[in-house]
Amino acid sequence: MASRGDRLPERRYDVFMPNGALIGGSVSLLAAGGFMAHAVRGRASTVFGPSVYHGDRARPAIALTFDDGPSESTPALLRILERHNVPATFFMCGQNVERLPAVARQVAAAGHQIGNHTDSHPRLDFCSSDFIYRELAAAQEKIIRHTGVTPRLFRAPYGVRWFGLKSAQQRLGLLGVMWGTIGRDWKWPAARVTKLFLNRAGAGDIFCLHDGRRTEPSPDIRVTLEAVEVMIPALKERGLRFETVSQILCPTS
Ligand SMILES: [Zn+2]
Repeated sequence: MASRGDRLPERRYDVFMPNGALIGGSVSLLAAGGFMAHAVRGRASTVFGPSVYHGDRARPAIALTFDDGPSESTPALLRILERHNVPATFFMCGQNVERLPAVARQVAAAGHQIGNHTDSHPRLDFCSSDFIYRELAAAQEKIIRHTGVTPRLFRAPYGVRWFGLKSAQQRLGLLGVMWGTIGRDWKWPAARVTKLFLNRAGAGDIFCLHDGRRTEPSPDIRVTLEAVEVMIPALKERGLRFETVSQILCPTS
């Protein structure tokens, strides 16, 4: 989940630039702080690794993405998606896959795309490059071992990127995926989540929702289920169709 939403980070950042230089002076301090806020949390930032946050704006397709699964509640979401014949993308945590391998396989068997959401769902800022690589590699290994699928997409927990992520993504062949709109489905009532998405929806959008809560067992995702149930037919009525993230990025593949 992204409990801090898409706001700027509350944590203060050091004023060392990526090359190690210390920036002096109050104006430069502000500039360095702004640069770091964008680099770490900005949806369009590619400073810490290749990343996308939308697909082709000319094609009327939307990608629904679900983070923090699989969970005990994921099968209920799969039933809704199946009933509406909608493919989605699931960014899974390795520890959740290890806990519920049969549910992870169910997601794959239903034809949905699976992405990497780290092993234990940590905030990556201020973490070492070794730690970041191990988090991504452990999730990759568990997803491959339990589902047979090799993820090609990665979503950073809380949308927070950091030094060392670029090399970790490159070593594992992962493209970063942010979002255009995030539904605060861990906090808001379903009607508010639905309204936000229906107001924002447009061609090429990537929406972020959750079928888990970090690595907590048995999360309550009723808000997510209700929002998805209402928004899918409403968006279809507008002529929008649903695709996986890879499909909206590379329509011909
Ligand atoms: Zn998450």
